[in-house]
Amino acid sequence: MCVSKVEAIPVRIKRDEAYLGSLPEMADPAAYFTRPPYRALYSAYFETAFVKITTAEGAVGWGEALAPVAPEVVCAIIEQLLAPVLIGCDPLDGNVLWNVMYDLMRERGYYGGFMLDAISACDIALWDLRGKLLDQPAHKLLGGAYRERVPCYVSGLPRPTPEERLELAQAYVDQGFSAFKLAAGHGVRQDAASVGALRAGLGADTTLLLDAHWVYALDEAVQLGQALAELDVGFFEAPINPEDVESHAQLAAAAAVPIAHGETERTRYQFRPWLTQKAADILQPDVGRAGISETVKIAAMAEAFNTRMAPHLSVGLGVCIAASIQVAAAIPNLYMLEYQPPVFEIANMLLKSPLICQAGFYEMPSGAGLGAALDEGRLGQLQA
Ligand code: MG
Repeated sequence: MCVSKVEAIPVRIKRDEAYLGSLPEMADPAAYFTRPPYRALYSAYFETAFVKITTAEGAVGWGEALAPVAPEVVCAIIEQLLAPVLIGCDPLDGNVLWNVMYDLMRERGYYGGFMLDAISACDIALWDLRGKLLDQPAHKLLGGAYRERVPCYVSGLPRPTPEERLELAQAYVDQGFSAFKLAAGHGVRQDAASVGALRAGLGADTTLLLDAHWVYALDEAVQLGQALAELDVGFFEAPINPEDVESHAQLAAAAAVPIAHGETERTRYQFRPWLTQKAADILQPDVGRAGISETVKIAAMAEAFNTRMAPHLSVGLGVCIAASIQVAAAIPNLYMLEYQPPVFEIANMLLKSPLICQAGFYEMPSGAGLGAALDEGRLGQLQA
């Protein structure tokens, strides 16, 4: 039994509404854009990178990297650097293969970023493949499920006014959801007021979370963190630039609100200082960037520091979502998994059988491996 083929597929699918609200009018819809005050580059499309790994006997595993822009970069790394190494290998040698892939560019300093995204896509595909070869769901191979349904929070509330955000949240409450994350970062006073309006409208039993998209300086973050603690906010995500571990440690010591960090990190090595320096209370690796293998190792390391996990899950389209559910079920220290309804809807259009998220929980996908297989015909139809 050996890997015979590794195919990387860059994906671009049209979208109507972005996570952060309506999309800008652009002369060239394929051009990327920024959304001040945020600095990151965004796409008007849903973009991602899938990988399909096939054995000589014809068994198939699907993987996906989180690739919100330039998915071709991840695909080039997979095809040129990783595929030649994986072909001929036994897919059951998961940990060994992760380290073989990681070591290829390690000494050149490529132990994060696009390189790890590409490794993670292959890692996920190898888990899916192993599950299918052994006829077991991925969470069983990870040691079992601590929970059959995975608790989640609704992420985003992409509406411009407090009234409209409350209305949107209320519609989810009516469907059984009770946790919400606001995409914020619009100034200390405005962010506190936005959360305050949700708290006033939704009541004390709702879990409220805030993502500041790294816009604050330490003093501002402390001020906002204190206000959020008073509003009983579940976590304060991405308050300060992601490289500044020390300021996060000072923030965590100064404000009672739990500090969440992690979508920018991809390995145990990158998360280690956040734990040893007590800079984060909740870790948020994205399975599309850290893969399944590394995410469970990060979770095990966090466990030793009594730290919880809230895996990031943004524009992963189906395969990544299924992989995240499998991991979230199989780690003891889960807080909640992210849920983005508009992405989930598009993702389900690409899968042979849809994933289910209802009443505040993801249902465990059924079947071997990830329990989610891409419908390649449908993907071809939806590609922009
Ligand atoms: Mg975030």
